[in-house]
Amino acid sequence: MIEPLGRLLTDLGERTVYDAAAQCSRCGYCEQACPTYVAAGREAYSPRGRVQILRLMIEGKLDDPRAAADALSTCLLCGACQTACYAKVAVPDLVLEGRRALRRETHWLVRRVTRMLIEEPAALERLLKIGYFLKRLGISRLARPLLRAAGFSVLAAMDEDVAEAPARLLDEELAGLRARGEGKNWSYFAACGPRYLFPRVGVATWKALTALKGPGRHSENSCCGLLAYNYGDLEQARQSSRRNIERAEAAGDEPIIGDCSSCVAFLKSYPQLFLMPMDAEWRARAERFSARVKDVVEVYGESAKALPRCAADGTVAYHDSCRALNGQGLQEQPRQAAKAVAGESFREMDGADACCGGAGAFAFVHGDLSDEVLRRKIGGAAAVHAGTLLTSSTSCLIQLARGLRKYYPDAKVLHLSEFVAKALEERHGA
Ligand code: SF4
Ligand code: SF4
Repeated sequence: MIEPLGRLLTDLGERTVYDAAAQCSRCGYCEQACPTYVAAGREAYSPRGRVQILRLMIEGKLDDPRAAADALSTCLLCGACQTACYAKVAVPDLVLEGRRALRRETHWLVRRVTRMLIEEPAALERLLKIGYFLKRLGISRLARPLLRAAGFSVLAAMDEDVAEAPARLLDEELAGLRARGEGKNWSYFAACGPRYLFPRVGVATWKALTALKGPGRHSENSCCGLLAYNYGDLEQARQSSRRNIERAEAAGDEPIIGDCSSCVAFLKSYPQLFLMPMDAEWRARAERFSARVKDVVEVYGESAKALPRCAADGTVAYHDSCRALNGQGLQEQPRQAAKAVAGESFREMDGADACCGGAGAFAFVHGDLSDEVLRRKIGGAAAVHAGTLLTSSTSCLIQLARGLRKYYPDAKVLHLSEFVAKALEERHGA
């Protein structure tokens, strides 16, 4: 059974879910910041509409649960509304509470994947390696119609959109890097995206952090639990967070640095998982843990003066990951780093702060809506003739690569770590 959270940590303090929803005055100031409202033009797809649906649910006045489920499921959880809202209404957390109330069970496939991420990473790695091997041979492409016919269209879409098939996963890459020396200046939190989909990003982060901050180590972390949290399995999310907190406490007190902004924002929000009185001890431990967590884009921003200038492929633009910008308030830091490396080649693009429509599995489940949001985003990159588009979340990397292939193949997308690490390596090699 899916359980609700019940209470939320909002920007105005701890609140019951109903009180958090009641903070919405229905002014509509957030509407134009909401990508789904702008794309669809429907009140039900706006932040104000979604908050009202939640209020009606709690008051027992909801007369159309299907329409409510549709409105809540089409929220990207991007948080642009919360940033725009003068009352800082916690719309994404409220939407998640609404989804938990409407859904009795988590989908079995999500349950299976989160379980593997958290409990059985070795089995997951074996499966992925077989999958990537088949992908390199071109066999997984042939299996897509079968997957769709068997009801696994999400898996078929993922196979299509995740173009890469790395030969080595991040743990193997890190073993080689760690053999060259470890230290205690920082601890790397390997999020599942770099770990299983984009090992090149994790390698770049390790090299860049080593060059900028001296030797660090890998904290042997578990999945952050975001997937379980977003799909209703709060107990699994808590279990994951407790593991990460325990490991970090045992390791020391150095900063914990992650390179997927979605996961980092979730690590920073761990205290929200422990708001019940019986969880007081875990809440205090979660608060200490979260205070140590940093997004790698923060580190690059702080180190911008130490970053070398490096020739880039064409104009360089930056796309804000929603969980960096709206989830952590990180807007200037990644730009300081990108501008330090790219110099005159950097250009700000229109709509850089708008969601790309990726949002985890959203792009695979709500393809048309996601594509409409993505088309606008890529239009912004094309308008500044971007050759290199930078970002900081796994979901954005997948979605932007898909959008560039489809609408603007002149550009490529990179994680900011890759851009920074290349500049540092070139200086070192020079
Ligand atoms: S969420 Fe905030 S900005 Fe949007 S309608 Fe409510 S109070 Fe206004
Ligand atoms: S989180 Fe994003 S998609 Fe959801 S209501 Fe807010 S702005 Fe709209």
